[in-house]
Amino acid sequence: MEDLSQYIRDVKDYPKEGIVFKDITTLWKKGDAFKKSLDILIEKYKGKGIDKVVAAEARGFIIGAPLAYGLRAGFVPVRKVGKLPADVIKASYELEYGTDTLTMHKDAIEAGEKILIADDLIATGGTCRAIAELVEQLGGKIISFAFLVELSFLKGREKIKDYDFFSVIKY
Ligand code: AMP
Repeated sequence: MEDLSQYIRDVKDYPKEGIVFKDITTLWKKGDAFKKSLDILIEKYKGKGIDKVVAAEARGFIIGAPLAYGLRAGFVPVRKVGKLPADVIKASYELEYGTDTLTMHKDAIEAGEKILIADDLIATGGTCRAIAELVEQLGGKIISFAFLVELSFLKGREKIKDYDFFSVIKY
């Protein structure tokens, strides 16, 4: 299989000194690589009865929405505080470089629905852990977590070790 990691650019000291940012825009701008990365994820999860894909803004949407489309699943956006118009639930989380709060509409998920949580990249795992909290507050059943890129040296996977997990590209 073609090595998709060749399309990912390392940007040193972004967004602050000491962080090596994995810039996925250099993969996304190549049509074949973008399609391939999504086809791998769709192939992995099709037939698993996923009702909804849940993903956080902004880069998570670039993976989550086409994945939901490919799986014929619904798409649920997770957003920063103040961005969703109707009643929301909240969860706070830590990033590799800061902290923040995520929100999801209260009526986005029905109890028992099969949920796939997707993001472009897992670093410390704080973001996806917070998304999982939101999903479970509403009674969603998390089937798996899907990532385009995993920074395995940051051990984010340990934060969600009780769940199924898949990443396309590992560092
Ligand atoms: P985390 O909560 O630490 O797993 O961080 C995951 C989110 O932060 C992802 O949605 C990424 O977009 C972003 N992120 C954190 N660290 C990096 C990094 N080194 N390179 C690229 N994106 C990152």
